[in-house]
Amino acid sequence: LDEGLVCHVGFAVDSQPFVLPTAYARIGEYLYVHGSPMARWLSLLRQALPVCATVSILDGFVLARSAFRHSVNYRSVVALGHFAEVEGEEKLAALRAIIEHIMPGRWGDAIRHPSDGELQATVVLKISLHEASAKIRSGPPADLEPDLKDRARKVWAGHLPLVLSPLAPVPDPALQQDIPAPDYLIEYGKR
Ligand SMILES: Cc1cc2nc3c(=O)[nH]c(=O)nc-3n(C[C@H](O)[C@H](O)[C@H](O)COP(=O)(O)OP(=O)(O)OC[C@H]3O[C@@H](n4cnc5c(N)ncnc54)[C@H](O)[C@@H]3O)c2cc1C
Repeated sequence: LDEGLVCHVGFAVDSQPFVLPTAYARIGEYLYVHGSPMARWLSLLRQALPVCATVSILDGFVLARSAFRHSVNYRSVVALGHFAEVEGEEKLAALRAIIEHIMPGRWGDAIRHPSDGELQATVVLKISLHEASAKIRSGPPADLEPDLKDRARKVWAGHLPLVLSPLAPVPDPALQQDIPAPDYLIEYGKR
């Protein structure tokens, strides 16, 4: 959860399932999401609809000797339950955590923190991680013995690790020229 970047929240409305991607942050045993009170999914989830929230990281492609055994390496979490709205100090802490989750160091920079009006124009919900599972696949393919022993089939097998890595930061065209890129931005992804 600390390394993932996107949470997918699944829920059903009149038997129609929806899955929506969103930013998130974890604080302790809770996962927090936020958005506009005008967003339909947030007004639905405010009413404690049963949900499934998942975060996954793709770590690599697994190339096996048989088509059947091809796979991916990953780390994923699935949480079941319902969201509850948070207010006050917890709401502000969650917003801070969401910004810090995306870009560590950003909240402590010179950004303007939310005004009362902006806080009112933001819904923050949390879901307990009490009912959650994690699943991980890593390493080489799991080929069958006959395929491993088949020396005649000269096919490469293994895995291709993948990472999400940043490109050079692109300044806002309206940025004052005397403001350099902050260290946390230059260092992003080197963690
Ligand atoms: C990036 C990615 C790609 C994948 N690609 C495939 C694919 O192509 N085909 C495929 O069959 N599977 C794929 N998986 C695995 C898939 O998510 C399921 O774990 C797997 O298919 C077993 O499903 P199931 O319904 O039998 O789970 P069950 O064994 O019935 O699950 C029981 C419980 O385990 C937990 N659980 C199940 N899956 C996960 C999970 N991924 N993460 C955390 N908790 C979990 C849930 O709480 C669930 O209720 C992929 C996973 C990831 C992250």
